[in-house]
Amino acid sequence: MQLLENYALKSFNSFGIAVSAKYYCNISSNEALQEVLAWNKKQHHQILVLGGGSNILFTKNFEGLVLHNTLKGIELVRESEHYYYVRAMAGESWHEFVQYCVKQNYAGVENLILIPGNIGATPMQNIGAYGVEIKDVFYELEAVDIEAQSLVVFKKGDCNFGYRDSIFKQTLKNKFIITSVTYELPKLPKYNTSYGAIEMELEKQGVKELSIAAIAKAVIAIRQRKLPDPQQIGNAGSFFKNPVIPTEKYLQLKKPYPTLPGYADGASTKLPAGWLIEQCGWKGYRKEDAGCYALQALVLVNYGKATGEEIYNLSEKIIQTVQHKFEIVLEREVNIY
Ligand SMILES: Cc1cc2nc3c(=O)[nH]c(=O)nc-3n(C[C@H](O)[C@H](O)[C@H](O)COP(=O)(O)OP(=O)(O)OC[C@H]3O[C@@H](n4cnc5c(N)ncnc54)[C@H](O)[C@@H]3O)c2cc1C
Repeated sequence: MQLLENYALKSFNSFGIAVSAKYYCNISSNEALQEVLAWNKKQHHQILVLGGGSNILFTKNFEGLVLHNTLKGIELVRESEHYYYVRAMAGESWHEFVQYCVKQNYAGVENLILIPGNIGATPMQNIGAYGVEIKDVFYELEAVDIEAQSLVVFKKGDCNFGYRDSIFKQTLKNKFIITSVTYELPKLPKYNTSYGAIEMELEKQGVKELSIAAIAKAVIAIRQRKLPDPQQIGNAGSFFKNPVIPTEKYLQLKKPYPTLPGYADGASTKLPAGWLIEQCGWKGYRKEDAGCYALQALVLVNYGKATGEEIYNLSEKIIQTVQHKFEIVLEREVNIY
């Protein structure tokens, strides 16, 4: 175990915020994890598990212990008549994992290609895009209980998955370190092209026959057009969740705002937070280096030297103006530290 003190985290968070960790430890083996947890039992530092840092906003230096999960390995653990069961270690890149699945012709994750970050955060966030969420392919995960230092297996029913949500963001927040995730990937693909612009993109690319690889390619093209590359402009993807409101309230809002989009699901309707933010005039806003992305109002950006506090304050102002105009309180998707 190698503990580093006052360690710079700028290159480990996609917002590119210049903060440091009081203690930092790279976790590349289960032994290293056990060792550092045993050390911390006497130290009692607050622990932050860091993956790819693509869904985190640091508003100040982290005064505890950052465990940077870099556990590696991907393995086909078993096959049934209808599924492949593939286990990936938490420190593997999600995008590379999807590329691996596409290459092997394992279905189910192609719509989720190019989402930044690592395997370990995928169930925690229940990541999703283009009509697919992790919960759709999740089988089980292994996690280390920080207090007891024991390995626990969580099945799907244990995870309390919701929209960008799971038990690891609720009652078990900061209590477990996810070390591996096993995905259940169908042998017979059930393509999902109905969401977003996938069909249009497939047509544009002249795709005649659907395949896992063709969908992945289309999703990459759409995402590259729409979202800022964190290597160029610091960001963490969608900063806010799309609010879900009673359909009755949505229909009332449609009267003064007839163009308000909404995706009804029975008694509730999901609204695009980006639309609400845009209506409040924030799209393309910039104050010094903190801004709201010009092509997608849902994404807050760091043009270079913004502090986490500046980004956070901007998000606060956005929440207030949206609440004032629409009486809807936006919730942050990004984890604030
Ligand atoms: C350009 C861009 C586009 C994006 N698009 C999407 C999208 O389409 N859909 C979507 O859902 N998300 C999207 N995101 C958000 C982000 O990619 C995901 O939330 C991703 O899963 C975060 O993974 P990470 O490893 O970077 O997590 P981190 O940012 O490192 O951590 C996020 C949270 O998970 C916790 N955590 C991380 N690893 C572990 C672990 N092993 N055990 C326990 N807790 C852990 C952390 O403590 C933290 O609270 C996007 C982000 C960017 C920058």
